Amino acid sequence: MSQAKLKILRCPICRTIVPLDDPNVPFCSDRCRLIDLGAWFNEQHRIPDESATATDELPPDSSEES
Ligand SMILES: [Zn+2]
Repeated sequence: MSQAKLKILRCPICRTIVPLDDPNVPFCSDRCRLIDLGAWFNEQHRIPDESATATDELPPDSSEES
């Protein structure tokens, strides 16, 4: 194969082309990496929110049944 395949990626944050040589791969810069990390963290916080609605928020006040 003589087809030189240029291996590049695109920064998932700003869509800048990032060469695989870049230490920040797959991000174009440390800044975009942190942005992605933040977004990932936010999603992690969102997911358990749905399954933790019934048990965690129950008020300890049940004096209605005495
Ligand atoms: Zn970027």
